[in-house]
Order: sequence, then structure tokens, then C-alpha cells
Amino acid sequence: APRPAASSQECAVSVRSLSKEFGTGANAFRALDDVSVDIRQNEFFTLLGPSGCGKTTLLRLIAGFEEPTAGEILLDGRDLSHMPPYQRPVNTVFQSYALFPHMTIRQNISFGLEMLGRPKDEIKRVTAEMLRLVRLDSMADRRINQISGGQQQRVALARALAPHPKVLLLDEPLSALDLQLRKEMQIELKRLQHDTGITFVFVTHDQDEALTMSDRIAVMSGGKILQIGTPREIYDKPQHRFVAGFIGEINLLPAEALGDHAYAVAGVGTLKSDEAFPTEKGGKVMLAVRPERITLSEPSDGTLPGVVTNVVYHGTDTIFHIRPADGLELRARSQNNSARRQSFATGDRIGWSVDPSSVSVLVDEA
Ligand code: ATP
Repeated sequence: APRPAASSQECAVSVRSLSKEFGTGANAFRALDDVSVDIRQNEFFTLLGPSGCGKTTLLRLIAGFEEPTAGEILLDGRDLSHMPPYQRPVNTVFQSYALFPHMTIRQNISFGLEMLGRPKDEIKRVTAEMLRLVRLDSMADRRINQISGGQQQRVALARALAPHPKVLLLDEPLSALDLQLRKEMQIELKRLQHDTGITFVFVTHDQDEALTMSDRIAVMSGGKILQIGTPREIYDKPQHRFVAGFIGEINLLPAEALGDHAYAVAGVGTLKSDEAFPTEKGGKVMLAVRPERITLSEPSDGTLPGVVTNVVYHGTDTIFHIRPADGLELRARSQNNSARRQSFATGDRIGWSVDPSSVSVLVDEA
């Protein structure tokens, strides 16, 4: 029997058939197009996609800064559609931080609690707790204009977490930081989410960031969610060509379905996939294979043919460029520290193979 949909209790945020149009008539632009997603309680959920795909619009609709054109948003099972932003149990961390530069770290964190009219002793206690949580207790009385960008980022987080929202929305909060600090803050954010148990909805266009931090990812393009899954599912089993190409490196091979999980690549041979793909015999598909899943060997009966056209050394691994047939190119990644380290040179004839579990089958959209 099909598993029943998650109950509204298990969902922190439930987005149902949500659309958003900006402008009217001939100038109408559909920034979000019939999007549905259930974000679970206590989840680190990421909206990932290129610039303009609608990530920020979805976040702003959840926050209540925009009104939907159609559809609804439920929080803990309650319809939020007509609730003003300040009444929603949701808080937002903006890219710009939006801190008060002349106030101290402590004042910035307690300000929101004061606005909410919380009792004095509670404000004091929670502010101290937040300062410890983001590890700024030793400099609590410094002003914002006297601290670094990374420290400002932590103040913005502490301030947003202080009222203990059910859901924290984060719009590219790390984009202003340099790479080193960004990596540190990625780990820090993950820890904060874990320690507070608050549901995080995180927006980024950075695939690595999404893969390292998230419990689940929704990949967006052109106002739609294309695929939702764990980082591993999204990486290993992309269901769209866009998803396959947007996250990590991918080889795409045009092929024809032969039936029985087998696919013919013209001029090369037959590849098998574990996936039961609903294509009739003769149907055109695209096979997607990650470079690290291709095994290179001496040419033999069990392998597909190819010629090495380039060898690029990267320290921990080497990328072999392979031409399996005219007009086709593959990249195969081989780890340099493994016992089975490959040493082929440009011009070598090689054999290559892929386990059926590592071949994804996509509709040929092109
Ligand atoms: P980025 O990563 O660049 O912030 P995004 O995925 O967050 O991109 P959105 O900000 O959600 O994208 O915008 C989606 C689309 O809607 C864009 O094409 C944008 O130009 C358009 N858009 C957003 N806000 C408005 C607005 N107020 N009026 C008109 N169009 C808008």
C-alpha cells in the first residue's frame, strides 16, 4: 500500500501548489510556478538553484513579505496565508545581516526580544545563552563596526535565533564571507541547527555548500522544483539533466533503450542501468555517469572501447579525458592514493566500464 503523506504534525512548513506572479497582463512574470514541498521539523532544508530560479521568492512568501498568487503555506498545519510577517513563528537571516552598526553585539541580540515585549530577566538570560551559542560571549560589548564580517554573521544568526522561531529562513547568509571563513561557518551553521533543533530553510546557489550542509535539498530551475532528495540521492540519482549538470561533474551519453535495463550508445556499445526507466524500446534517453564511477582498464571483452585524449593531474586524483567514439568525450576520475591507481597516457587505447548502479537514465530533453 502507498505510504500516507506525512501528517501536518511532522511537517514544519508545507507548501502547496504555490505560484507567484510579478506584474500584470502582458508584463506578468511567473517567478514561482506551482511549487509543492513538505519541509520536516528539525530539518536542515536547502533551496538550491541558479540566480533567478525563484529561491528568494519562495523564502519571502514563507516569511510573509510577499503574497502568493495561488496556493497555500501551512506552518505546523496552520494556514499562514493571511498572517502578517511579524506574527509568523518564523525569522529570517538576510544576506546583508541588517545589524545596527552603532549598537553592541549584546544590544543587537536583545533588541528583537525587547520589541516582542519579553520580560527583562528572560531577555538577559536568552541573550547570554545566544552569545555563548555563537561563541561571542567574550566580546559582547563591542560595537558592530568594531568586529569582523564573520563575527557580524554570527551576531545576525544569534539575533534571529533568540526568539526561538519554529523556522529560521536563511537567504545566502554566507555569501559575503571569504572562502576559508565560509567553510568554517558552514560547519558552525550545521552545529547551530543541530543544537537548537530549529528547522532551517537555507537558500544557496553553491552546490558544494548544499551537499555538505543539508539533510535534504530541493533543486530549483525556472520557478519550479525539479527534484527533492538527500544530498546523496540528488548526487547519485539525478532525475533531470539540469540537476545532473548543476551538481558536480557529469558525463552525458545519448543512448537508445534496448529493453531489459540495457541502453545502446551509438558507435560504442551497451551500458546497463539498475533503474527501471519507463521508456519503450527504441526510445531516446540520456545516460548520466559521474567521472569517479568510470573504471579504466586494459581493453578487453567485458569493457567498452576508448582512447585517452588528455591526462590532467590534480594531486589527490587524476582526470582522464576519454574518446569512446568520434564526437563523444568522457571524463574519468581516478584517485591517486588508491592501490588501483591508473597510469595511462595520452594516445593509449583503454577499456572502460560502469557498474549498473552508477548509471542514471534521463529523458533526452535536448
Ligand atoms: P538570486 O540567487 O539571484 O537571488 P533567486 O533564485 O533568489 O535568484 P528570485 O529573487 O526569487 O530568484 O527571483 C525570481 C525571478 O523573479 C527573477 O527573474 C526576478 O527578476 C523576478 N522577481 C523577483 N522579485 C520581483 C519583483 N518584485 N518584481 C518583478 N520581478 C521580480
